[in-house]
Amino acid sequence: MTVARTAALRFGATLVNRTEVVDLQKDSNGNVNGVVVKADGRTFTVSTKAVVNAAGVWSDDVRALDEAEHPRSIRPAKGVHITVAWSKVRNTVAAVIPVPGDKRSVFVVPWGQFTFVGTTDTDYTGPVDDPQCNEDDVEYLLRALNGSITETVTTDDILGTWAGLRPLVADPEASGRTADLSRRHKVRRSDSGDVTITGGKLTTYREMAADTIDEVLSEVLDADRITRFRRRSKTKHIKIHGANGYEELVDSADTISPLGGDQVRRLADRYGSDATTVLAIAESDQLLAEPLVPGLHYLRAEAIFAVRYEMATTVDDILSRRTRARLETRDASADAAAAVAALLAPELGWDEAEQARQVADYRARIDEELEAIVH
Ligand SMILES: Cc1cc2nc3c(=O)[nH]c(=O)nc-3n(C[C@H](O)[C@H](O)[C@H](O)COP(=O)(O)OP(=O)(O)OC[C@H]3O[C@@H](n4cnc5c(N)ncnc54)[C@H](O)[C@@H]3O)c2cc1C
Repeated sequence: MTVARTAALRFGATLVNRTEVVDLQKDSNGNVNGVVVKADGRTFTVSTKAVVNAAGVWSDDVRALDEAEHPRSIRPAKGVHITVAWSKVRNTVAAVIPVPGDKRSVFVVPWGQFTFVGTTDTDYTGPVDDPQCNEDDVEYLLRALNGSITETVTTDDILGTWAGLRPLVADPEASGRTADLSRRHKVRRSDSGDVTITGGKLTTYREMAADTIDEVLSEVLDADRITRFRRRSKTKHIKIHGANGYEELVDSADTISPLGGDQVRRLADRYGSDATTVLAIAESDQLLAEPLVPGLHYLRAEAIFAVRYEMATTVDDILSRRTRARLETRDASADAAAAVAALLAPELGWDEAEQARQVADYRARIDEELEAIVH
């Protein structure tokens, strides 16, 4: 989110969400010169000089639009985390624990009042849009956890689960396990000039971006000829949005706001110096300084910030992705969904029917998550 905002606020990038690339457009020489997108029920073409496909686990599907045939270059590897109350584990530092009966280990990470345990690393062949944590994943992680702590943690103690797919580059010569596959990234340019970045890690995102942009500049845009382009990515020297002013904000945390130093420090860690905008929203109306989900630290003001500045458009955006309420306390987040919908309604122009639809949609996702664990 902050990387995208940095691109928009500092470099003039235009960001759109909920807009799907459904086709690529090519000129008479077969070079890609546009993407056909679907947004709000409309389909239209955006002309481009270059196209970068960074669609993660879906990147083969986008490549298939260009290359006519599905390349099957990605081997999706499912990873699951579970959340339990910190009091069940009482670890003061992040630890790596072995999984009995497997050669892998998993992390046990303290996170305020919670502890996160994960991750698994298994082949995944289901629909990539909706991987779920299942009974086997839970059994695997609880086996590891219970092998290393004195208390016994059961499925009933799990407060939240989340599952994701790593877009690993398939390697026919690698051994059977996804855990042994390389996490290195790969940049590939197709005959029509579409540049695809696959594999990699969150921690290497700048290197991945630099390699991708260098490929676009030198090979697609031919920067040697077009002098207004730099020849290489300059990401290495760019500070992320919110970095400037962060330290001053943290230094003044105890005195700057009636919300108190702990809340200011938490907001600064999440939003950088933009925390001052969240604080201004919270201080403008006492109700907005209330918790978004009872029992969690998030403020109602953060939901307003997410709509105004982070392109959130659904209750699920707020509870699953702009905050992590769903991952931390799934049931409490479901209980709070109606209040969140009512809070967002004036911002997003929702009538009562739309609020009800948003709540039903969010609760249906939670029901699916629960069903996957117990079946
Ligand atoms: C369980 C797990 C553990 C991980 N552990 C680590 C770790 O320890 N360290 C680490 O550094 N990284 C870790 N990662 C990160 C991971 O390895 C990847 O780097 C990351 O998940 C993929 O990011 P991405 O930006 O490539 O893809 P994504 O974040 O999936 O982004 C792809 C985007 O493309 C969009 N998209 C897809 N198709 C289309 C289309 N047709 N039109 C428009 N948009 C489209 C999608 O909506 C999505 O927003 C982990 C990931 C998982 C799942």
